[in-house]
Amino acid sequence: MFRVIILGSGPAGLTAALYTARANLEPLVLEGHLPGGQLTLTTTIENFPGFPEGVEAWSLMGAMRQQAVRYGALCRPESAVRVDLTKRPFEIETEKDIYRSQALIIATGATARMLGLDAEKALLGKGVSTCATCDGAFFRDRSVVVVGGGDSALEEAMFLTRFASSVTVVHRRDQLRATKLLQDRAFANEKIQFIWNSVIKDILDPAQGKVSGVVLEDVKTHRTRYLPCDGVFIAIGHTPNTELFAGQLELQDGYIVTKGGTGTSVPGVFAAGDVQDRIYRQAVTAAGSGCMAALDCEKWLTEVGYL
Ligand code: NAP
Repeated sequence: MFRVIILGSGPAGLTAALYTARANLEPLVLEGHLPGGQLTLTTTIENFPGFPEGVEAWSLMGAMRQQAVRYGALCRPESAVRVDLTKRPFEIETEKDIYRSQALIIATGATARMLGLDAEKALLGKGVSTCATCDGAFFRDRSVVVVGGGDSALEEAMFLTRFASSVTVVHRRDQLRATKLLQDRAFANEKIQFIWNSVIKDILDPAQGKVSGVVLEDVKTHRTRYLPCDGVFIAIGHTPNTELFAGQLELQDGYIVTKGGTGTSVPGVFAAGDVQDRIYRQAVTAAGSGCMAALDCEKWLTEVGYL
């Protein structure tokens, strides 16, 4: 039995852990499948305040965890597989145990979206990837394609130029969604080319168990063409990790709806980070909302007389 359980260990979860730990609430953090959260799938973070030279994601997340633990947070490498928010205290079941808590902070983040092609599934880990940081080094002196037009796509593309001989960004429109700074950097990078108004219709060749090229379709002319490449990186956004809460919490397009700060449709349940944020989705905003959730949670526990 805990006063507060935190689901997730990205910037939102670990900041909520730090604040609830310093408030003496002795939080349990269930770290989930990806300790440190999505940020650990990237490399250097240049826009987290306080690091003028940038900071490696693993180092930042390691420090956040250490700081939360120092003040009394208990971190366990487990994932919730079932939650019951109709019961008081709430019940959270993991692969190993059943835990109960008076309050819950959900910071389960989001997961990379896929194109939905059979070949993409067949070749995932065999040339198709959603994480340049994890797999970029396998593509030394090879040519790769990155799909998407947002910040992630351009960051992945630029990271891949450290290894690949050429990087082609395929985008379904003729304008990028990414921030101007990243666009300028990507346009200035000689290793990066762009193919506009195009989508990937197929990835070859599952029969060979490796990527040999992609079939592109121009969305305006509907002409298709073959582009040889050795790897495909999918960077088309994310889906919030909220399956556990469907039917129990108010969701909108899969995101947890928060009102008046970080409160959800169930009193005592708070949400922070990408699981409730479709707009900002930055490490620093996630950390900020983790802090808000912790403060809201502490206030609620006091108001209902648990503290
Ligand atoms: P995003 O901004 O949602 O961009 C997704 C991109 O993928 C869009 O260009 C979209 O095209 C394209 N796309 C979506 N579905 C597609 C499909 N089925 N087929 C082909 N293309 C598809 O996602 P993101 O780049 O992951 O960024 C998410 C958030 O994180 C943003 O707020 C971003 O600013 C932030 N972020 C920040 C940093 C940083 O600050 N360093 C780094 C990474 C991400 P359309 O443009 O046509 O919709």
